[in-house]
Order: sequence, then C-alpha cells, then structure tokens
Amino acid sequence: MERNYTWHDIVKRMEERRCPICRLIDDRTHQKISVLQYQHVSDVEFRKRFIDSKGFCEHHTEKFYEQGDSINHAIVYGHLLDVELRRLEDGSYSKKDKHTKPCMLCESENTSEAIYLNIFQKAFNEADFKTHYEDRGILCMHHHKIMLKRMKKAKNPDLKSYSSITGHKYQELLQDLKEIKRKNDFKHVNEKLTERETKAWQKARKLLVDQGEHRRK
Ligand SMILES: [Zn+2]
Ligand SMILES: [Zn+2]
Repeated sequence: MERNYTWHDIVKRMEERRCPICRLIDDRTHQKISVLQYQHVSDVEFRKRFIDSKGFCEHHTEKFYEQGDSINHAIVYGHLLDVELRRLEDGSYSKKDKHTKPCMLCESENTSEAIYLNIFQKAFNEADFKTHYEDRGILCMHHHKIMLKRMKKAKNPDLKSYSSITGHKYQELLQDLKEIKRKNDFKHVNEKLTERETKAWQKARKLLVDQGEHRRK
C-alpha cells in the first residue's frame, strides 16, 4: 500500500504503553485545538458550528480549556452566552435545544478513527509494519476487538498472526498484573517488581478503558 503520512504516523506512535490509533487521534485533536486557539476562534464557520452544538462535549471542553487562554474563551463563550440569552428572551430555546448538533471534535475523531483503522488493517499485511507492531506496538482492547472483526470480515490472511501477537501481549500484561499482586503479599515482600511490571499497572488503564468513550454515547 501507499505509505502516506498516516502510515508513518501510526508506526511512529507504536509503543508498549499505548494504542497507536488512540494516540494519533489524541495528537490530531490536540493540533486541531491549537489551530482553533490561535487562528480560528473568530472564523465564521467555526463559530456557527460552535453555537449549533452548544460548545464542545464535556471531554473536549476540558481539552480546549487545558490548551486555552482567557481571550479565546471570552470570544467563544461570550458569543454562545449572547445567543443563549437571546433565545431565552424570545422563547425559542426549547425548540433549538432539540436540534443541538454533536461536538465537532468528537465527529472529526470518529472520522479519523475509521481512516486509521483502515490503514492499520491494510498495512498489517506488510512485513515491516508487522515487525514494528510485534516489537513494540499494542492496540487497546477496544481497537483490538474491532480489528479482529474487520480482519475476519475481510478474510485478511494475517488475521491469525495479528490475533496471536496481540493475544500474547495481553497475556503478558495479565501475568505482570498477577505478579504485582503476588509480590505485594508480605511473604514475598523482598521480591522487587521488574521494570515491565512497574509499567504494567500504569499502562493497563490506557489499554483496557476505551479512550474514545466520550464520543460513543
Ligand atoms: Zn486504541
Ligand atoms: Zn467532543
């Protein structure tokens, strides 16, 4: 397949602790928010959409806040509050509320996610992509289940190796978590955690909890 930016972006984000697809989605949203902060909060299209969706969802409101400053918040929320107060005044608020659109950042994350899953699935048939994944990548449980289904449906010849590589990584993680519990017992208190076990409890939450839950409601 053609090795476009996204292909390289996925490979670059392969690491033991986090799913490359989740990371890429997060990174792209971070970039989008930066662009909004510095260029487009006054953009007419953006502002219209911001009003239609009554701001971002709770998750992205916090992300926007973390990256934001007083002037950008004053611009976007000043506009939203102005519209809300006018709607309250003329009684049109209940009708408009029914038509609130979904958060624009959630929507673009959903679109990106579909593209990244597609590229991952096709790229996995290439030996070097597979080697990168085997060496240091792991898909989160949510994306792993989707990938299994997609590969099965597409009769992907690499389904078996994908499933066995990822399954093995999750077995290792489980083993590490069990070891942490065992070594926590006073009988084994002299046994130190290995480097992998030290990371295991930290990475478990990123891999087992769906990082895109905010946009799947
Ligand atoms: Zn993921
Ligand atoms: Zn959102």
